[in-house]
Amino acid sequence: MTQLENNKKRQPRTVRRPVGEPLGKIVCPRCGNSAHFVEQLESVLVSTVYRQNLDGSFTPVEQRSEAEGERTLFCGECGYDMTPFHEHFQDMSF
Ligand SMILES: [Zn+2]
Repeated sequence: MTQLENNKKRQPRTVRRPVGEPLGKIVCPRCGNSAHFVEQLESVLVSTVYRQNLDGSFTPVEQRSEAEGERTLFCGECGYDMTPFHEHFQDMSF
């Protein structure tokens, strides 16, 4: 293998990828759960646009939410911190 090909190799990442069975699935190392996970956002800014009506009352027109800060991922069964798998989780969320 040439040096150029070596350079093309993926850079080492701190993100963890699931390697267990079945392949590509996250499994909680503490309780074995592979079905339920909880994502937590440090803070979410929610903005709601209101229209004031002729009688002075307000009607919500549109709601926007923006996530800010750290996102963490936990096992949904025992609460184990699975954040190292968060990027994988996002890639596979659809
Ligand atoms: Zn667990």
